[in-house]
Amino acid sequence: MSQVIATPSKTKEILEKYGLYAKKNYGQNFLVESQIVEKIAMNAMSDKPCVAFEIGPGIGALTQFLSKYATKVVAFEIDDRLIPVLADTLSENENVEIVQTDFLEINLKEWVDKYKTPDNEVVIAANLPYYITTPILFKIFESGAAIQQITVMMQKEVADRFSAVPNTKDYNALSVITQFRCDVKTVMKISKHVFNPKPNVDSAVVQFKFNKKYELKEEALFYEMVKGCFKQRRKTMLNNFGEFCGSKQIAKELLAKADVAENARAESLALDVFVALYEVYYENRSECQD
Ligand code: SAM
Repeated sequence: MSQVIATPSKTKEILEKYGLYAKKNYGQNFLVESQIVEKIAMNAMSDKPCVAFEIGPGIGALTQFLSKYATKVVAFEIDDRLIPVLADTLSENENVEIVQTDFLEINLKEWVDKYKTPDNEVVIAANLPYYITTPILFKIFESGAAIQQITVMMQKEVADRFSAVPNTKDYNALSVITQFRCDVKTVMKISKHVFNPKPNVDSAVVQFKFNKKYELKEEALFYEMVKGCFKQRRKTMLNNFGEFCGSKQIAKELLAKADVAENARAESLALDVFVALYEVYYENRSECQD
């Protein structure tokens, strides 16, 4: 492997060579501890050979190790200043393709269909830009793309929301939607001292493995319903679900059919209850006006 990028001195050297500074509005905090970076890359691999999609390669710290373990790496970077830098730092990594784009704008399903083969899974790995962690994950979950697993670094406090259980402050629409599609685990916790520049908070690496525990028609509508139920956290299901249905009267009937108390709050309901409510809603959706 070419010289390791994820060290304090090499990162400083690269930033100086290109006259670069970390852009706050792109969430740029570069990893400078190679043992941690290698561990993330190894954890990101699936059991089968895989193509790794990376969101935000930065100056290539994680990309370099993904390239060592994956068949191929496709890395999506928004910051045009970093494209010539990556061409230089990853010049020896022939299995890396850099795409200059906003990850939130890509057609993820098309990209995954292009690279998934009977011999190659597609996995996602990233040290996420923290300002858009949630939109990125919603985009992946809702894309319907055949991704095997996602292994990403995020703020520790955001990480806690994904595996949160009902009746806790961290439990929200994102927890329900995530647990509907994936098995979630925290792979490791990471101190803020292994970044340049140093963020204000500690981080965690979280892994999402997709499964097919539930089969629902029009999954996107299920996601909308869950978001609707959490819309105003302190309001009851009759209010939030009623607004989603467009009629409190119909909401009352559907809640009764699904055995959900009208005065319950979304934060107290388990995933199975949301699934049961959606099935009732879906059967009767023609009665609801949007
Ligand atoms: N992977 C590098 C590392 O670990 O050192 C950099 C991680 S840094 C936290 C986040 C990276 O995501 C930056 O390179 C930033 O420019 C990039 N980025 C931010 N928003 C993006 C977006 N919408 N699409 C693609 N990349 C983005």
